[in-house]
Amino acid sequence: MRKDQQLLKEIKACTICQDLPLGPNPILQFSSKAKILVAGQAPGQITHHKGRPFDDASGDRLREWLGINRDTFYNPEKLAVVPMGFCYPGKGKSGDLAPKAICAATWRNKILKELPNIELTLVIGKYAMDWHLPERKEKNLTETVRNWKHYIEQDNPILPLPHPSPRNNIWLKKNPWFEEEVVKFIRKRASELIRN
Ligand code: SF4
Repeated sequence: MRKDQQLLKEIKACTICQDLPLGPNPILQFSSKAKILVAGQAPGQITHHKGRPFDDASGDRLREWLGINRDTFYNPEKLAVVPMGFCYPGKGKSGDLAPKAICAATWRNKILKELPNIELTLVIGKYAMDWHLPERKEKNLTETVRNWKHYIEQDNPILPLPHPSPRNNIWLKKNPWFEEEVVKFIRKRASELIRN
């Protein structure tokens, strides 16, 4: 078995966290051939039951930003989906709890080592930004996304994004430059990477 598949098998059998409200159910996809990495937060309750990442309205919008269909999105040889926590962490006072920190500490570097072909990393949400952009200086998410050209020009191109959830419709309306500049860039780059 290939090393990436072996690692995925190990992760799928992971039961490190014993306090997950719905039990362990790691939801992610990757292959060493993938050129695009989507780094999000953690599955919600619906995703836990469906067993597929971004199989919802957020995913529809993310696919629209990328300009790709569901078949391409769920092809791990094209696109890796590796959130900061792989299992549903449960509900807190204001929304879902943070992803389990032990998850990234245990698995993230091992996975990234098996993804040598990634040429674009889409980073969604605070936890993924803290991991992938630890040096960022902007005071909030809007400013970080606004500064996207700085991060995309690095050796390891990273694109910080707002969450594609319909809950962010107001943010998207207030920041039309995002669709005009950033989404335009993602579509063009994703189409190049997926074609080749
Ligand atoms: S959240 Fe991560 S570390 Fe915890 S059980 Fe799931 S896969 Fe394992």
